[in-house]
Amino acid sequence: MATHFVINNRFIVRSSVLAACAFAALFLAQCSGGGDSAIFVKEPLPYSQDALVPYISADTMGFHYDKHYAGYVKKANALAKGMGYAGKTVEAVIQMTAGDVSKTAIFNNAAQAWNHAYFFKCLKPGGGGAPEGILAEMIDATFGSFVDFKEVFLTAAKDQFGSGWVWLVLDEGKLAVVTGANADTPLAHGLIPLFTVDVWEHAYYLDYQNRRVDFVKTVLDNLANWDFVADQLEKAQPSKE
Ligand code: MN
Repeated sequence: MATHFVINNRFIVRSSVLAACAFAALFLAQCSGGGDSAIFVKEPLPYSQDALVPYISADTMGFHYDKHYAGYVKKANALAKGMGYAGKTVEAVIQMTAGDVSKTAIFNNAAQAWNHAYFFKCLKPGGGGAPEGILAEMIDATFGSFVDFKEVFLTAAKDQFGSGWVWLVLDEGKLAVVTGANADTPLAHGLIPLFTVDVWEHAYYLDYQNRRVDFVKTVLDNLANWDFVADQLEKAQPSKE
């Protein structure tokens, strides 16, 4: 069960300040996809669109966040409308539609919405370096060393044929690197997502053209938010201390 990762569907009402309300109204209007009870919400980007320069350009992040990700959220809401998913979480919709050929379109858009929100959180300005604590210990125990882990992750990125995702997951309490094609997501396979890099061409082509492995290596070395990943691990598998 991968119930540890909850898409933030809540809107924080900060105050009655008019500007904040106006912003919230605009945000809701953009995110609702036209429905009155949108299941899928476009989550805020955790940093500015130019915050990851020079590793990811503002152009790439702008298209990725405002066009690709926003498109999946909007389409998922449009497809979910009137389908009986009201009140369900994003994770539940993904799990209910996974593997059902009659629901491929909603699965694809729902999973892409979830995967992207997660991916953006896996990055941060000034990220990269090596993880610490239990995450680091588990990586060493599983892969030999952090350097070995990076090699496994990069090889998986290289070998993923076509569009998809590379993930570090928890599989029955053990770390594993897995890949998924197109919109596939660990949530559909009973795996707990910890870290991911999007290897669809739209994630890197403006900046890296066909050099996918350079992009993924750059993410690992300069942008990976290991604190976020460690938090997910702690939520999934609380330490006994
Ligand atoms: Mn993408």
